[in-house]
Parts: sequence; structure tokens; C-alpha cells
Amino acid sequence: MTREKVVQQLESHGVLPTVQRLDVGEVILSSPQHASADQIIARIREKGSKISKATVYNTLNLFCERGLLKTIQVDPTRQFYDPTIKPHHHFYNLDSGELTDIPPHGIDLKVNTDLPQGTEPAGVEVVIHVRDSRD
Ligand SMILES: [Zn+2]
Repeated sequence: MTREKVVQQLESHGVLPTVQRLDVGEVILSSPQHASADQIIARIREKGSKISKATVYNTLNLFCERGLLKTIQVDPTRQFYDPTIKPHHHFYNLDSGELTDIPPHGIDLKVNTDLPQGTEPAGVEVVIHVRDSRD
């Protein structure tokens, strides 16, 4: 994705395209992927930017608030950023630490209990933990 396209994407979500936001956007919004904040910071710095960690975190939070990114929590200490906003599920490989998309129709979930009183379904996104085969 060109920088020009990232500018358009930020503007269409009401985000002012500063240089630093574009640096972050080019890394995480340019292609379907799942990346941790540390991976994103490393890739931005590889490109020669001296952006601070705090700025990257603030920018990622802003992108999430504005619907450009969502987060996937795979365990209490590990969070990934995902530019694919539409609902979908994931495989999480415990050995490689990688997430793989599962399309929405890839999981059939049957709930055999009533919802809590006064609630309605608001969506389900599943993370299935897998590991490399042992044999
Ligand atoms: Zn995903």
C-alpha cells in the first residue's frame, strides 16, 4: 500500500495523517497481518524512524478507537493488532506464536444455554490454540 493510500485511509476514519501516524500506518495497515506492538516498533525502526514506544502505543490505541485496527488477546500477556476489522476467528500457534485467520463461516458455534437475562448476542470471535504436531 502506498503512503498516499494510508493517508486516505486515516482521513476517512477521522485521523489526522501526521508523519508518525503514517509511519505506524504503513507498517500495520498495509497488508493483512497480526503483529504485536513490539514487532510493529521494530519494523518502524528498521525503516530509520526514531519514533518513541509511547507514540507507537498511543497511535495504535487511536487506530483501534477509530476502527482502523482491532486487538486480539491470546493470553493475559499477549496482544496482537489486526487490520482485518470484519468479524473473523483465529488459530493461535503456541509454538510459533503466530495467528492465522479463520473465516467467519469456518466455525459453527452452538450455544446450549440461555443468555443472561436482559442481554442479546453481540458477536463471538474465537481463538483456537494449536501447537505443532508432536510426531
Ligand atoms: Zn485476523
